[in-house]
Amino acid sequence: MLSAQIQLASYLFASILFILSLGGLSSQESAKRGVIYGIAGMVIAILSTVLGEGVSGHIYIIIAIAIASVIGIMVARKVEMTAMPQLVAILHSFVGLAAVLVGFGSYLDPKTQALAGAEHYIHLTEIFIGVFIGAITFTGSIVAWGKLEGRIRSKPLLYPGRHVINILLVIICFVLGYFFAVASGTSGMIFLLIMTAIASFIGVMLVMAIGGADMPVVVSMLNSYSGWAAAAAGFMLGNDLLIVTGALVGSSGAILSIIMCDAMNRSFWSVIFGGFGDAPSGPAMAVEGEVTAVDHEEVAQLIRDAESVVIVPGYGMAVAKAQFPVFEMVEQLKSEGKEVLFGIHPVAGRLPGHMNVLLAEANVPYDIVLEMEEINDDLPETDVVMVIGANDIVNPGAETDANSPIYGMPVIQVWNAKNVIVMKRSMATGYAGVQNPLFFKENTDMLYGDAKDSVSKINGFLKNLN
Ligand code: NDP
Repeated sequence: MLSAQIQLASYLFASILFILSLGGLSSQESAKRGVIYGIAGMVIAILSTVLGEGVSGHIYIIIAIAIASVIGIMVARKVEMTAMPQLVAILHSFVGLAAVLVGFGSYLDPKTQALAGAEHYIHLTEIFIGVFIGAITFTGSIVAWGKLEGRIRSKPLLYPGRHVINILLVIICFVLGYFFAVASGTSGMIFLLIMTAIASFIGVMLVMAIGGADMPVVVSMLNSYSGWAAAAAGFMLGNDLLIVTGALVGSSGAILSIIMCDAMNRSFWSVIFGGFGDAPSGPAMAVEGEVTAVDHEEVAQLIRDAESVVIVPGYGMAVAKAQFPVFEMVEQLKSEGKEVLFGIHPVAGRLPGHMNVLLAEANVPYDIVLEMEEINDDLPETDVVMVIGANDIVNPGAETDANSPIYGMPVIQVWNAKNVIVMKRSMATGYAGVQNPLFFKENTDMLYGDAKDSVSKINGFLKNLN
């Protein structure tokens, strides 16, 4: 058994490791180190909690940890990189559910009932707020999972007066909170249950009101909510480390949401209140021009003749796992003295940083991976842009079509380059479900097929074209 002092010292140490972990995760070079700090912090956190004073039934805890670890390892090994956002969303829902269960458990705990005076009210407030945030996080994350998995339609569910209804529901929850606090014994349970149902409904409605293209912000927002839910659970359990960790996750998730909002040109406050992805008010702009297709050999010839090549990867590169042949192609082109750069859109793929993770996996050097703002300036002087499995993030309609659901979102202006090759399997739309006028532009050619297969074929031609 650890004494309270040793447990406190371990918690402090674990908190420092979590802060170092977040710091490490902020850049690709230090990301691995960040993950190791995080794992070390979590091991210390679990051990010092389980071995702390007042914890009994260790055998059950060990069995639960063993079962959960086996499930966790199996899921993590099996999950495809493309399904990572869904996994993250469902894991957020577990944090929400945990906060709800801790809240109910804490309310029924005889120790809670024995509290008196201000302490009693403070603890009931912690429980009520914790369950409220937890329930919203739980159901909101499940809806986000459904939308990302394609089980729930990504179109926003908008109905008149939804903001008023949401505000009314929150007010009702406040009133229920009052009755919950003044109820005697455990008779407040009925108010807690009604509030949980209402908060669960709010969670569903907030995320249902958000359109497909705005999902990146939802994922980071729910990340933040799950942190606050964990912090609330920390207050309920009187666990300092959980409060610190929850606050770290909550605030870093909020910062990430602000960054994602900037990237999508959305207002942060409208995200918090949900339903910001309003439906377009008119029909989409008619697309002009013709689609032209090229074959792999023609693309190989084009990039062989080019001096500068920019690669813009998107979700399709993740689906095809094309990052490895892409790296081979980059090495080949660089060895021929060409300038090769990557342009990364902040919401490319299905997770913040999705493309950076894939490129790092394939050992692409960080110094040739540029962000959208940096690469946009270079594009007018670029000979060839290869758009690999990207669609929404290179859609000029985001700048020109006020009726497009992605209108206002900054995009990578690939059409400014001399030649654009779009590599995808068909003319299908991207996640936002909108037609892309880029495909019809005069300087754009389509190379149809699976991205990995296409890049491998281009590599084959590049080696033989001497
Ligand atoms: P998109 O979803 O817009 O487009 C991806 C394209 O890849 C599709 O049009 C598809 O066309 C193509 N594709 C799919 N599989 C393959 C394959 N095997 N080989 C070649 N191409 C393939 O992706 P973007 O990255 O351009 O944009 C991301 C979108 O996802 C944005 O709308 C963003 O808002 C949203 N989003 C982003 C999140 C984030 O955090 N990054 C989270 C949630 C949503 P085809 O079928 O013809 O091959």
